[in-house]
Amino acid sequence: MSTGTTVSLLAPPPAPLITLESAPYWDAAKDQSLLVKRCDDCNQPHFYPRDICPHCLSTRTRWVEASGNATLYSFSRTLTKEGEYVLAYVRLEEGVTLMTNLVDYVPGNLKVDMPLSVVFVPTADGKYAVPMFRPAEAQ
Ligand SMILES: [Zn+2]
Repeated sequence: MSTGTTVSLLAPPPAPLITLESAPYWDAAKDQSLLVKRCDDCNQPHFYPRDICPHCLSTRTRWVEASGNATLYSFSRTLTKEGEYVLAYVRLEEGVTLMTNLVDYVPGNLKVDMPLSVVFVPTADGKYAVPMFRPAEAQ
């Protein structure tokens, strides 16, 4: 049940720091696609994306597109003079956890394990987009 007002982002996110290793991730996010890395040797996914698998140190890692479906693992709500924001750890359907912000949520309705969907929020300079998450039922 929705009770209260939906909270949107206070300001657009800053441009990400792009490295050779992370460039494919940010290029994909700009095109509304969320990528994670998977290892061809141990078959485990990992995040943040790295060339070397953190589980088995293999260099045989590849990009895979995530569904964008996730659940809320934990979150921290911060109130400021301008409004509020939520920093969260979300667990992707693919099995990795990432730190992100929540958007378009109703504060009183946030619950651990609630279903979330990815949304790509344009950066302040308009050149990239940052994957963030919102309650799945808000789609
Ligand atoms: Zn591995």
